[in-house]
Amino acid sequence: MAPTDTTDRAAGEPLLGLDHRFVRDLPGLYDPWQAAPAPEPRLVLLNESLAAELGRDPAVLASDEGVSLLVGATVEPGSQPVAMAYAGHQFGNYSPLLGDGRALLLGEVTDAAGRMRDVHLKGSGRTRFSRGGDGKAVLGPMLREYVIGEAMHALGIPTTRALAVVATGERVLRERALPGALLVRVASSHLRVGTFQYAASTGDHELLRRLADHAIARHHPHAAGADVPALELFRSVVDTQARLVAQWMLVGFVHGVMNTDNTTISGETIDYGPCAFMDRVDPGTVFSSIDHGGRYAYGNQPRVLQWNLARLAEALLPLIDDDASRAVELATEVLTSFDGRYRRAWVDGMTAKLAISGGAADGTSDVEAFVDAVPSMLAAQRVDHTGFFRALSAVARGDDEPARSLFADPTVFDAWRPTWQALVAGRDTGAIAMALDRANPVYIPRNHLVEDALDAATEGDLAPVHRLLAAVTDPFVERAGFEAYAAPGPEGAPFRTFCGT
Ligand code: AMP
Ligand code: MG
Repeated sequence: MAPTDTTDRAAGEPLLGLDHRFVRDLPGLYDPWQAAPAPEPRLVLLNESLAAELGRDPAVLASDEGVSLLVGATVEPGSQPVAMAYAGHQFGNYSPLLGDGRALLLGEVTDAAGRMRDVHLKGSGRTRFSRGGDGKAVLGPMLREYVIGEAMHALGIPTTRALAVVATGERVLRERALPGALLVRVASSHLRVGTFQYAASTGDHELLRRLADHAIARHHPHAAGADVPALELFRSVVDTQARLVAQWMLVGFVHGVMNTDNTTISGETIDYGPCAFMDRVDPGTVFSSIDHGGRYAYGNQPRVLQWNLARLAEALLPLIDDDASRAVELATEVLTSFDGRYRRAWVDGMTAKLAISGGAADGTSDVEAFVDAVPSMLAAQRVDHTGFFRALSAVARGDDEPARSLFADPTVFDAWRPTWQALVAGRDTGAIAMALDRANPVYIPRNHLVEDALDAATEGDLAPVHRLLAAVTDPFVERAGFEAYAAPGPEGAPFRTFCGT
C-alpha cells in the first residue's frame, strides 16, 4: 500500500468530498455515530474502476490517509456518520426496529456522472441497533459481497457495489475466530422498504412525507409532478423492483434473504449475505441455512418481492389519500400491476437470451408459450442454467453437443431444438450467435469456486479471489484458462450459505 499521497490533490482538499444530505433531510431516521477503531487497518481490495466512476483517485484512497477515511477513523468535514434506523419483516415477521446494527452511512458523494451515491461502512462496530450482535464483520463474507456485487454489476444488474474491503487487524469470533474486516459500500441510496415501515410506524406524518420527498428527489424524480406523488413513487418502485427481480431470475440468482429491510427504494440489489447462483435449474433452490421453509427459494422470488411491495404500500397509505379505503384502492391497483410489469421484463429477457427478440415471431403468443416452457424443461432435465443458455451460440453455429450434453435425456433437447431454430430462423447465423453471447454470460460466481476463493483469502492468499474477480467482471467474453469458472459445481450435497455473517 502506498504510504504517501502521490497525487496532485490540492492541500486541504477533502479526499472523498462527502455531503450529508440524508442527515439534513431526515432527522428522526438516524443516530449520529462513529466507527469503532480498527486496530491495524490493511487494505485488502480496492475497486479501482468504481473509484474512477466516483471520480476519486484510487492511489489517494489506498494511501494511509485514504484508508483511515475508509475505516471511519477520520471524518472529513462535511461528513456526519450515522447509523440509519429502519424496521422490517424478516421471514415474514415484523421487527419494529432493526437499523444499522453494524453499519454506518458516512455520507454521499457526487460521482463523475453527477449522480449522488451513498458511501457506507459495514462491520463498523456496535450501535444502538445492534441488539445481541457484536457489530462486526469478517473477511470472507465481506469479500463475498464484493465479488457477487461486481459480478451482478458486470451482468448489467442494478446493485450496490463495494469500493473496498479493509481488514481491521482484529479477530472476530464466529464459529471460530476469524479475521475482522470492513466493507465500504457504495449505493445509490440505503433507503429500504423497511425505512418507510419505520417512518410510518412513528406516526409522524411529516417525517413520512419528508422521507417520500427525499426518495422521490433521489430516485424517482418524475413522481414529484404527479397528482399524488406518493402513489407515483410507489408505482415507480414497483416497476423498478419488478424489473430487478426479473433480472435475478434470468441469471439464476437467489438472493436468499429478501426481507423488507433488504428491498431498496432505488431498485438496486442489496445485502449479499446468503445469496448464491443456481447451477442446475430447480425452482425450489434454497442456499441459506436458515431458510427452512424455502420462503426465499429461487422460484418464489417474484411473489415474495410483491409481498414486500405490499408492505411498502401500507407504509405509504397515509400519503396517498386521507380517505383510508380510497388509499388502499389506489395502492392495490398499482400493486396488482406488478405481475404484468414482471412478466414483460421476464419475457423480454428470455427472448433476448434465446435470440428470439427482433425475429419475425417476436411478440406473438407462440413465442410467449415457447418461452414459458423453457424453465420447466430445464428443471425436469436438471440442466445447468448458465451453461445451457451460453451453449446456444454453439447450437446456432451448428454444434449441438455443448447444449445437448447438459440434458439428462438428450432427446428432449433434440425435440426442442427445431422449434427454437424455427423461431430464430431467417437471420444471419453469425449475428444470432453473437447476440446470444452478448445476452448469456459464460462466467458467473460458481458457488464452489467462491467458497474456495474465500477460504484461501481467510488463510491469507488473495490470488484465487483476484482470479475469480477477473472471470466474473468480464462475464460475456470466453477466455482460455478460465474453463473451471464456466462449469457447474459437483452434484451431491446441496450447497449451503450462512447468515449471521
Ligand atoms: P442483514 O441480515 O445483514 O440484512 O441484517 C439484518 C439486521 O441484523 C440489521 O439490522 C443488521 O444491522 C443486523 N446485524 C447483522 N449482523 C450483525 C452483527 N454482527 N452485529 C449487530 N447487528 C447485526
Ligand atoms: Mg440488511
